[in-house]
Amino acid sequence: MRTTITLGGHEVPAFESRGTTDGPRVAVLGGVHGCEYSSIAAVIRLMRGLGEHAGTVVGVPVVSMDSFTQRSPFVVPRDGQNLNRAFPGNPDGSYTDRLAHDIFTQLIEPADAVLDLHGGDLVEALEPFAIYNDARSRDLALAFNLPYVVDSTGSLTGMTSAAADVPAVLAEAGGIGQLEESAVALLTDGARNALKYLGVLDGDPEPSRSKVLGRFDWHHSTPAGFWVAAVKAGDQVAKGAVLGEVRDLYGDVLQTIRASDDGVVLFLTTSAAVAAEGLLLGLGCDERTGA
Ligand SMILES: [Zn+2]
Repeated sequence: MRTTITLGGHEVPAFESRGTTDGPRVAVLGGVHGCEYSSIAAVIRLMRGLGEHAGTVVGVPVVSMDSFTQRSPFVVPRDGQNLNRAFPGNPDGSYTDRLAHDIFTQLIEPADAVLDLHGGDLVEALEPFAIYNDARSRDLALAFNLPYVVDSTGSLTGMTSAAADVPAVLAEAGGIGQLEESAVALLTDGARNALKYLGVLDGDPEPSRSKVLGRFDWHHSTPAGFWVAAVKAGDQVAKGAVLGEVRDLYGDVLQTIRASDDGVVLFLTTSAAVAAEGLLLGLGCDERTGA
């Protein structure tokens, strides 16, 4: 089941596991962002421990090899583009566009379902959550059983899960450049439950315990400066609560960041250095009752 696949000019390690009976073809991606180590480890653990199954499961731990080897958070180092805004890609575009096209045509397009594993990046703490971009992917996102599911229908275009024409989910756990056992286990168990939901693994999926959030509110700095957060990933906050301050290097406050609404801090920039219009945190809002 060990093989390789050529993506963006790199021959990268891949797993392809053919089941004993017919079933869907599932693509499991890691390393769209190269420093989200727990999610990369989860792809490897999932594929090595798959066991007997139906259908075909293809797993690639690191699809953006330059981002991984060069420890490049958020973007592909060659052209500074975010790969997860570039799907379905373009064979005549920038390096990132071509890489996205390779991933899309070889892994996403042939699949009946896509599990794209992520986490907080090198300077990002995170509360585990899954994202879906259309109604047909909702139950797959819930099957990951992470604490939260964010309905991102119609937003965040260019992501794997938005470009795929089949049920597709982005699942996120871990962060800040750490390889965390708890995050690896959450993503591996979540992916196994999702594979049960898809009929690839035997047995009934565990019922979902995820809370569904209707909206993502991303908060940005206006000026560049020194970011001092007043909250942690996972904190519940009320509308108007102070989330942190952007200060200058004399310590004077340039901007106070307040919560746009009641919500939970799903990801948080842990780097004090922030650029103008820099992303500071993402608040999951509009909690809905009942999974
Ligand atoms: Zn990511």
